[in-house]
Amino acid sequence: MKNILILGGGFAGVETAIKLSKYKYNITLVSDRSFLFIYPISIWIPVKKKKFSDVSIDLNLLAKKHGFNLIIDRVKKIDNNNNTVILDHKEIIYDYLVIALGMHKLKLKGMEHTHSICGKPEEALKIESILDNLVKKGKGSIAIGFGGNPKDPTATAVRGGPAFELLFNFSHYLKKKGLRDKFDINFFAPMKEPGRRMGEKPYKKMDVFFKHYNIKTYIGKKINHFEENAIVFEDNSRLESDLTIYISAGSGHQVILDSELPVNEAGFIKINELCRVQNNRNIFAIGDIAAINGGPEWAAKQGHIAEVMADAAAYNIHNEIQGIGKRKSYWEHLNIICVMDSGDGAALIKRTNKSEFILPLPILGHWMKKAWGFYYKNSKLKRIPRIPGM
Ligand SMILES: Cc1cc2nc3c(=O)[nH]c(=O)nc-3n(C[C@H](O)[C@H](O)[C@H](O)COP(=O)(O)OP(=O)(O)OC[C@H]3O[C@@H](n4cnc5c(N)ncnc54)[C@H](O)[C@@H]3O)c2cc1C
Repeated sequence: MKNILILGGGFAGVETAIKLSKYKYNITLVSDRSFLFIYPISIWIPVKKKKFSDVSIDLNLLAKKHGFNLIIDRVKKIDNNNNTVILDHKEIIYDYLVIALGMHKLKLKGMEHTHSICGKPEEALKIESILDNLVKKGKGSIAIGFGGNPKDPTATAVRGGPAFELLFNFSHYLKKKGLRDKFDINFFAPMKEPGRRMGEKPYKKMDVFFKHYNIKTYIGKKINHFEENAIVFEDNSRLESDLTIYISAGSGHQVILDSELPVNEAGFIKINELCRVQNNRNIFAIGDIAAINGGPEWAAKQGHIAEVMADAAAYNIHNEIQGIGKRKSYWEHLNIICVMDSGDGAALIKRTNKSEFILPLPILGHWMKKAWGFYYKNSKLKRIPRIPGM
C-alpha cells in the first residue's frame, strides 16, 4: 500500500486527507497543532461573536471520522532526495508527499509591538483581551493595517480582507457599546491602492465603507517601524495607537527555505498547474505555501483556493498511482470570492477572468458568513452532507 504523507493540518492538508481517505492508501497527516483553525471566522473572536473553540476543529476527531493517521509533531526537515521527512520525534518515509504548511510572515522592525489576526491562532485571544481593557477604560485609539512583500511582485500573499473586516467589526462592536465616539479607528497601508486586487468596483467602494464606519485612513505611507504605542512612517510622522494590528505579507516557510525544494523569490514552492513541485515527481505543494502562477495577475492565496489545490493534488496522485491518464489543473478555478463581514452585514465580492462585482448585503451577509462557518465545521465532521463544489 502506498504511503502518502501530508504535512499541515489547515484547510489544504485536511482537505487532501479527506479526499484521499476514500481510497485504500496509508494516509498520515502531520500537524504541530491538534486542531484545524477556521481562520475566516476567527475575526469574530475579539468582538466575542465566536469563542476560540467555535473556530477550531479537533484534528483527532477529523482523523477518526475520515480514517487517516494523525501525528501531532513539528516538521523539522524535508529530505526530498531520500523521500524522508524528519519530525521532532521521528522520521517518516513516504511514497508521495503533500506539503501544506501555510506561510510565514515578513518581519518588520518593532513588529513585536503589534498583533496579527493572521498569525498564531492564540493571537486572536490576545487581541480580544487588549480590546476588553480598552473598553473598560472607555476610550482608546486602534490602528489596523497590512503590508506587502517587496520580493513578491505578484503580491499573492498580501492579506487585506481580514484587516478590513476587523476595522468594520470593531467599529460596529464599539457603537453597540455606546463607545464609538470615544475611539479613533485608523487604517494604514503602505501601498497606494490597498484592496485593488479585489477588482476595480470593490476597490472604489472601500471609501464608502471607511466613511460609513468612521475609519481614518493612512494610505500610501511606507512604514519605517513600530513602537510600543505607535506606527512610525518613513517621513517620521507617527500614528499613536493603544492597539496596533498589523497583517504582514506572507513569506516562505522556514522548513522549505532550509530544504532543497525549488522556491520563487518570495520563498513559495514552485509548482505546476497540477500542484506538483517542479522537478519532484512525487511531491505536491498546496495552499498558502505554494507559489501561485499561471493564473490572472490578481490571483490571491485564499482558503477556497487551498481546497481547490487539495482536490487537484489528491486527484492527480490517485490517478497516477492507478495508472489513469486524466489530470486536474487548479488554474481554471483561480478567482477571488470573499464575504467581507462588517458585524452588521457583509459585502459579497467576486472576481473572475470574465467579471467582477461587489454586492452589499446588509444583515443577510453577516448571517451568510456565519452559516458558512457552521457548514464548514459540520460538513468536515460528517455531521451534515457536503454541498458539491463547496
Ligand atoms: C483572519 C483570516 C481571515 C481569512 N478569511 C478568508 C476568507 O474569508 N476567505 C478565504 O477564502 N480565505 C480566507 N483566509 C485565508 C485562508 O484562511 C488561508 O488561505 C488558508 O488558511 C490556507 O490554508 P493552508 O492549509 O494552506 O494553511 P494554514 O491554514 O495556515 O495551515 C497550515 C498548517 O500547517 C501547520 N504547520 C505549520 N508549520 C508546521 C510545522 N513546522 N510542523 C507541523 N505543522 C506545521 C499549522 O499548524 C497548520 O495546521 C483568511 C485568513 C486569515 C488569517
